[in-house]
Amino acid sequence: MSPPARSPRPQPVTSSLIQWIDADYPQKPFEESRNDPDTVDWVRAIPFLFLHAGCLGVLWVGWSWTAVAVAFFLYGARMFAITGFYHRYFSHRTFRTGRKRQFLFAFLGATSAQRGPLWWAYQHRHHHRHSDEPEDPHSPKCHGFLWSHIGWITSRRNFPTDYGSVRDLSRYPELVFLNRFDIVAPLTLAAALLFAGSILNRFAPSLGTSGPQLLVWGFFISTTALFHATSSINSLAHLMGRRRYATEDSSRNSFLLALITLGEGWHNNHHRFMSATRQGFYWWEIDITYYLLLLLERTGIISDLRPVPEAAYIRNDSDSTVPPRARADVDTTA
Ligand SMILES: [Zn+2]
Ligand SMILES: [Zn+2]
Repeated sequence: MSPPARSPRPQPVTSSLIQWIDADYPQKPFEESRNDPDTVDWVRAIPFLFLHAGCLGVLWVGWSWTAVAVAFFLYGARMFAITGFYHRYFSHRTFRTGRKRQFLFAFLGATSAQRGPLWWAYQHRHHHRHSDEPEDPHSPKCHGFLWSHIGWITSRRNFPTDYGSVRDLSRYPELVFLNRFDIVAPLTLAAALLFAGSILNRFAPSLGTSGPQLLVWGFFISTTALFHATSSINSLAHLMGRRRYATEDSSRNSFLLALITLGEGWHNNHHRFMSATRQGFYWWEIDITYYLLLLLERTGIISDLRPVPEAAYIRNDSDSTVPPRARADVDTTA
């Protein structure tokens, strides 16, 4: 499902402005979009820059334990939505859940301002198919640290969603809507925080917070930290850490990155066995997302978590033949 084409086509600047609201505008053939220049589109990137600039609001609003707690809570909850659902569910289909539940977690993930779930899943599948090749949108090996960490999302060539590569997801109109108007979810969260802070300021003044303070801590600071932690998997997880498996890419395992991303730091494990729900393969490989997914499975919210294959535990696997990239394609039949 894709939005209808429009004409006449606006100038690029106008187009970039409209894309703040409608991420699918203008809809042109996907391959044509891929020929756009791989450079920073500053106009399109203004909301992203504004997200960072908003953190400076702390100079005016100060801090309170309430605001800091809200920031931490929203970091954790949304990191879980990104790692558990944007990544392990939408991108890799490593477990099953119902339609309403997938939408709720997609919405929570979308409040992270990391674009919509279909765009995220498309880009991530593309990353696995072309890991550390020039076609990989965020390979530090091919494009450098800064581009892989932050630059690639500001490039016009990476803006569109290839709905053709996420057909298993684009058959849900509510997900397509969320993906197309991806600014709605973060704005909803920002408005809710402003409102909640104002209510607390009026009815529970002992908490020492306010609408603007909750907005700065719960939205701007929490979301910016969340973005950079998630991005560190695109950049640092291909640069620092150990390699247990001899994959064709440069993915690595890092305890530190696993801690701040709730388990995504076991990136070499994941590149080698991407169909498994679990990414920390041993008890000491802390994978908080997996523990939370187990909890959701116990309560019946999700089901059919895919196990780590036996082959993952065979000694000297790093010396064995790693399956060719084509066989590592994402299974979208779930
Ligand atoms: Zn992945
Ligand atoms: Zn990777």
